[in-house]
Amino acid sequence: MELWRKQTERFKADFVDDNVSKVDFKQRPLRVWTSDVAHEGRTVIVATGANAKYLGLPSEERLKGRGVSACAVCDGMFFKNLEVVVVGGGDTAMEESLYLSKLTKTVTVVHRRNAFRASKIMQDRLFKTPNIKVMWDSEVVDVLGESKVEGVRIKNRKTGTTSDLKAQGLFLAIGHEPATDFLRGQVRLDRGYVVLVPHDGLATATSVDGVFAAGDVHDFRYRQAVTAAGFGTMAALDAERWLQKSGQ
Ligand SMILES: Cc1cc2nc3c(=O)[nH]c(=O)nc-3n(C[C@H](O)[C@H](O)[C@H](O)COP(=O)(O)OP(=O)(O)OC[C@H]3O[C@@H](n4cnc5c(N)ncnc54)[C@H](O)[C@@H]3O)c2cc1C
Repeated sequence: MELWRKQTERFKADFVDDNVSKVDFKQRPLRVWTSDVAHEGRTVIVATGANAKYLGLPSEERLKGRGVSACAVCDGMFFKNLEVVVVGGGDTAMEESLYLSKLTKTVTVVHRRNAFRASKIMQDRLFKTPNIKVMWDSEVVDVLGESKVEGVRIKNRKTGTTSDLKAQGLFLAIGHEPATDFLRGQVRLDRGYVVLVPHDGLATATSVDGVFAAGDVHDFRYRQAVTAAGFGTMAALDAERWLQKSGQ
């Protein structure tokens, strides 16, 4: 990323290392605020991503990247023939568990209720997979291990008892939070994700003329670095084309 930033600076891009707190896309030029400073632009590309949700345990934070992950397709290969735990109960949790089951020795799905939210077809697939087991009415209350994951502590929500489960990986599959609070009321969102409104050959256009979106902030399906980078290129080309077409 540092190399990419240096290259971009060489092409005279300005960087502001701050958070965007609000925007005003209702007038021209478009405005974006960081701290108390307003930045003006004829076009804006939103690429603020989506944060994976975690349980919020200190041990989980400490062991992120050391056995704790939120992306099975990204990190699954590190857990070949090992034992992993997946937390969640929706379609994403089913998908992640089924993917991991092909690589790992066992997958234990920990779910806080006694039924999944996931579609029946996904549940059926999961139940039929011999190396996947489910712990109902349970939650992970601690991640065990000093420098890498060695297990998880699980609390049964019905009985209140805790037990330790040996595992080398913990995958969170409890959703993502798109970083779009500052866009509310300005750009069309769906469950927090920016909605793309392709028109006139501009695939990354949004509901606001001249505002484009790239990466995980709109893409809840693929969520990969390479797809985000691809969308970034598309958005840059779209913005350039839009500027030329609109004579701005
Ligand atoms: C554990 C894990 C492992 C992964 N491993 C892989 C992998 O191996 N291969 C792969 O292809 N993908 C992997 N991914 C997915 C990949 O990280 C994402 O798909 C990719 O980073 C999305 O890029 P993005 O630019 O859309 O968003 P991000 O990378 O999330 O970047 C968004 C940026 O916007 C900033 N931002 C957010 N809000 C504001 C604001 N209000 N103002 C200013 N800046 C803001 C953020 O700080 C961040 O720097 C992994 C994801 C996870 C969670």
